Amino acid sequence: MSGLDIPATVDAAEVTEWSDDVDVVVIGFGIGGGCAAVSAAAAGARVLVLERAAVAGGTTAMAGGHFYLGGGTAVQQATGHADSVEEMYKYLVAVSREPELDKIRAYCEGSVEHFDWLEELGIAFERSYYPEKAVIQPNTEGLMFTGNEKVWPYKNMAVPAPRGHKVPVPGDTQGAAMVIDLLLKRAAELGVQIRYETGATNLVVDGHSADSAVVGVSWKRFNETGSIRAKSVVIAAGGFVMNPDMVAQFTPKLAEKPFVLGNTYDDGLGIRLGESVGGATKHMDQVFITAPVYPPSILLTGIIVNKFGKRFVTEDGYHSRTSGFVMDQPDSAAYLIVDEAHMQRPEIPLITFIDGWETVEEMEAALGIPTGNLVETLNNYNEHAANGEDPEFHKQPEFLAPQDKGPWGAFDLTLGKAMYSGFTVGGLATDVNGEVLRADGSAIAGLYAAGACASNIAQDGKGYASGTQLGEGSFFGRRAGTHAATSAKS
Ligand SMILES: Cc1cc2nc3c(=O)[nH]c(=O)nc-3n(C[C@H](O)[C@H](O)[C@H](O)COP(=O)(O)OP(=O)(O)OC[C@H]3O[C@@H](n4cnc5c(N)ncnc54)[C@H](O)[C@@H]3O)c2cc1C
Repeated sequence: MSGLDIPATVDAAEVTEWSDDVDVVVIGFGIGGGCAAVSAAAAGARVLVLERAAVAGGTTAMAGGHFYLGGGTAVQQATGHADSVEEMYKYLVAVSREPELDKIRAYCEGSVEHFDWLEELGIAFERSYYPEKAVIQPNTEGLMFTGNEKVWPYKNMAVPAPRGHKVPVPGDTQGAAMVIDLLLKRAAELGVQIRYETGATNLVVDGHSADSAVVGVSWKRFNETGSIRAKSVVIAAGGFVMNPDMVAQFTPKLAEKPFVLGNTYDDGLGIRLGESVGGATKHMDQVFITAPVYPPSILLTGIIVNKFGKRFVTEDGYHSRTSGFVMDQPDSAAYLIVDEAHMQRPEIPLITFIDGWETVEEMEAALGIPTGNLVETLNNYNEHAANGEDPEFHKQPEFLAPQDKGPWGAFDLTLGKAMYSGFTVGGLATDVNGEVLRADGSAIAGLYAAGACASNIAQDGKGYASGTQLGEGSFFGRRAGTHAATSAKS
């Protein structure tokens, strides 16, 4: 059996006994499934969650805890950062490969209400701002820039505002586990049933025609199997970074990574379940892949060049934007060059220090860069940086400084040399209410998807902002749950 196999559907007419009969079944209790479950229950639906693991949380419980929110949240207001729905909308449209305008509009218009909902759930976002360029706030600061808002060309397309809201948990991982605890508490209050160590295996359909509705789910718990009848099914089973066959097929760069970001059950089964009833997919070849150069941000005053000694991206971008451009270079090879005056050790040692050289000519030769290219690139950069300018890539003045005080050092950003990690961003095509769509754009009756198994705002690593996945997973998870409950009633 291959990891690319699409599970067979089960015809409801052939099910002799139903283990349960509910309004809404949710597959998986991470951010997407948790938000869908509580929202469906709050809308009056009888909700049953199947969770394949022994505990809830999935990849969400590993996450640092950024939520990308804006348009004037209480934290933005309290820390003096003006933002508006329009500027947030313009920004997200600008960074998206194929912006789904109705979703971005809904996300931006609903962002303040969604922030309030998360706070009402029990997340007390700190009214504080972390001003440094970092991967994540080191402590409990509530707000930070986590995308490319201040980076060219986006800084000219929308007024920059910080939108990375962090849950009040220090450190860079597992902060979002608190959100799962809060969702479990809310789910219990609302009478949501959760069945652990129970994996969804197949979707149940009412006949095998092209427009069959989804009317249930088959499951497996150890040696036991069964089928649940449901008016709607929400798939929220995560991405596919842990499925070697899918990774090899769709996102081969992730196959070369030294480590992945995900939980065991990020095996793409949720996506394949959606495909089993005709669900289309989007952006399956796109990834979030990264080996952050910063902090410290002083390293961003250096230049990043490819194996021909040419710059190819502004160095001050969000880390997965820079990494995304590295992936596009010949052999996915790149070097960060810094002079002695700006040399510091990376706080997270993911990029490899190669060596230091007394002259740029020696460095160029040692790196195998064609003679003269690096000298020319560096001279050109230094000349403009001295005037606070970067006509080629428009780096922010804050990160512009001539690299003219030797010796010079180089870090390796090459895939296979630097410690890249990543996850998948592609998933099932959905509409603004989370309904799974066929290739012709029609919705599959009774089927929803949310979280990493659905394609929404995050479409690639170059446009990604930290907080987009928890943000969209929770936002569209809520919408899917509410819509599923409403249509179940009708
Ligand atoms: C280290 C790390 C840090 C991150 N930090 C951030 C961040 O700060 N902000 C941000 O926006 N994003 C972040 N991300 C990405 C983000 O965490 C994920 O995209 C998001 O949590 C996915 O949520 P989900 O609900 O789709 O999936 P999950 O949280 O993985 O939940 C899916 C659940 O489905 C279950 N499941 C799987 N298959 C089945 C099945 N067949 N039947 C039943 N249950 C099943 C799984 O066990 C799991 O519990 C981070 C990721 C990592 C790894």
